[in-house]
Amino acid sequence: MMKTDNDFMQFALDGALWAYDDCGRVGAVIVQKGRIISFAGSDIRDGTHAEYTALLSVGWVGTGTHKPDSTIYVTYQPCLKRSNPKKISCSQYLIDSGIERVVYGAVDPNFNQWEAEAYLRNNGIHVSQIPDVQLQEECKKLFNDSFLPGTLPR
Ligand SMILES: [Zn+2]
Repeated sequence: MMKTDNDFMQFALDGALWAYDDCGRVGAVIVQKGRIISFAGSDIRDGTHAEYTALLSVGWVGTGTHKPDSTIYVTYQPCLKRSNPKKISCSQYLIDSGIERVVYGAVDPNFNQWEAEAYLRNNGIHVSQIPDVQLQEECKKLFNDSFLPGTLPR
C-alpha cells in the first residue's frame, strides 16, 4: 500500500525517540520513489543535526545533482542558520544535496517560519509543513520534552 506523508513523518517521530539527544531531539527520514533510504536522529554528542546525518548516510552532502522523486521528512523545521556561524545550516545542506522536497513537522521558533521556507523555495525545493495538526504537536513535543533539567537549547 502507498505510504503517505503522515506515515513517513510518523516513522521519523518514532525513530527519533532513540536519538542520542537530550537537547532538542529531531528525526529525519529520506524517502526516494516511495522507499525509505535513510534515517537519522539529531546527536547531542557532536551537535550534528538529523538532516545532515541523513544526507550524509546516502552520500548526498554537497553533490548538487537533482535527486528525482526525493523527500526528506524532518520532525523540526530545518535550521536557516546555526548559532555557530562557521557551521553550515541544514537548509543549505538540503539545497546543496539536490533533494526535491522537504516536509517538516514543528516550527522552529528561532527563525521566521516563512523566511526559512522561502530560502528553500527560492533555491528550488518544494517545502511545506505537515498539515496534520496532531503530528505537528507530536513533533514539537518530541523536541521540547527531550531537554534534561538544566540544559539549554543549542
Ligand atoms: Zn539544522
